[in-house]
Amino acid sequence: MDLAFDRRHIWHPYTSTITPLTCYPVTSASGVMLHLEDGKQLVDGMSSWWSAIHGYNHPTLNTAAHDQIDQVAHVMFGGITHAPAINLCKKLLSLVPSNLQHVFLADSGSVAVEVSLKMALQYWHAKGEFRPKFLTLRDGYHGDTFAAMSVTDPDNSMHYLYKGFLPQHIFAKSPTTGYWQEWDESDLDDFRDKITLHHQEIAAVILEPIVQGAGGMRIYHPNFLKGVRKLCDQFGILLILDEIATGFGRTGKMFACEHAEIQPDVLCVGKALTSGYMTLSATLASSEVANTVCGGEAGCFMHGPTFMGNPLACAVAAASMALLETNQWQTQVKQIEQLFSQLLPKLKQYPIVQDVRWLGAIGVVETTTAVNMETIQAHFVEQGVWIRPFGKLIYMMPPYISEPEHIEKLVGAIESALECEDYFNY
Ligand SMILES: *Cc1c(COP(=O)(O)O)cnc(C)c1O
Repeated sequence: MDLAFDRRHIWHPYTSTITPLTCYPVTSASGVMLHLEDGKQLVDGMSSWWSAIHGYNHPTLNTAAHDQIDQVAHVMFGGITHAPAINLCKKLLSLVPSNLQHVFLADSGSVAVEVSLKMALQYWHAKGEFRPKFLTLRDGYHGDTFAAMSVTDPDNSMHYLYKGFLPQHIFAKSPTTGYWQEWDESDLDDFRDKITLHHQEIAAVILEPIVQGAGGMRIYHPNFLKGVRKLCDQFGILLILDEIATGFGRTGKMFACEHAEIQPDVLCVGKALTSGYMTLSATLASSEVANTVCGGEAGCFMHGPTFMGNPLACAVAAASMALLETNQWQTQVKQIEQLFSQLLPKLKQYPIVQDVRWLGAIGVVETTTAVNMETIQAHFVEQGVWIRPFGKLIYMMPPYISEPEHIEKLVGAIESALECEDYFNY
């Protein structure tokens, strides 16, 4: 591969054109293995950012894509419908909380978030109220587009530079009680204060349930989410749950909101929806939300992307949803969770480890010092694993099909990095 061209001309996520970091050339992938151009094989610990839950090059998903491409790869969704979209939406509605009845198919996680925020604004517009604010949590992440950035942590995130350009929303303190810790009621104080003070201007609360992902890999107590739902009901405010990272079994429940036994008014899903094959996301709404939106002045929901409901993506997504069942995702995820619970606590003996935490197929090692991306990445590749940390967070979200030996290899590679000063920015 022409890596010199890549370095000179191609932007990768969050990278510099002046000092680009090393990119590793992948030629193919199968199961949990990424194959590099030099013949090296890496055990994947990232599921390509939460998406490839069934692993790579899966025969069932390949067949779904091949079959669909021979029918029609894409057709507009305005005034036209097709079986892949209908099959997928049927499957989705059978999996999500039962109050959600209407599906809006979108292109990416960020767009699903934009759509959810627009739904909330149109909802209040239809009710004749002006509600320009969203209430969310610190340490959250909701995507890279403008509205999504505006509800992402304003200080710690990758988006603080844009601060002056973004609408100002309301941020409550993120929960501090961990999932496995004893619940501390005062965790909700700041959220309660903010919603009580601002409820008349708040259109919706938006947050990531149970796991705050890219904003810090924080895993919090279900009672926080229960409390949020109660307060939203009390003040008549919509609750949008962003399950783009947590959806489809990742936390050990089909959706993370099930840990708190609550239902959202609007739900965003993405990432694992096509098991990493193609970009596709969805925003689902209750009938109350959908019908209020459409009963308003506009008479419809005002959004319609060019590639909405792409048949190829829908066909693979429907097949991926079916695979969750045949693969017995609960058993797969439980097995990974058990391994994390056995292997991760041992890493606390290293002075550089601040905290370890896990839930479902998510394992996190937080260090006291930020990693040196270039050197630690090279180390992981040398060890035969693909783990991509950020800041002080070395984390794993492996494909559900990972075997115990794969998980052990991932954790072993992390352990071997913890003792080497070169891999951290002291
Ligand atoms: C990744 C992510 C997004 C954004 O999704 P993209 O597909 O990258 O646009 C939004 N919310 C959460 C919680 C995510 O993890």
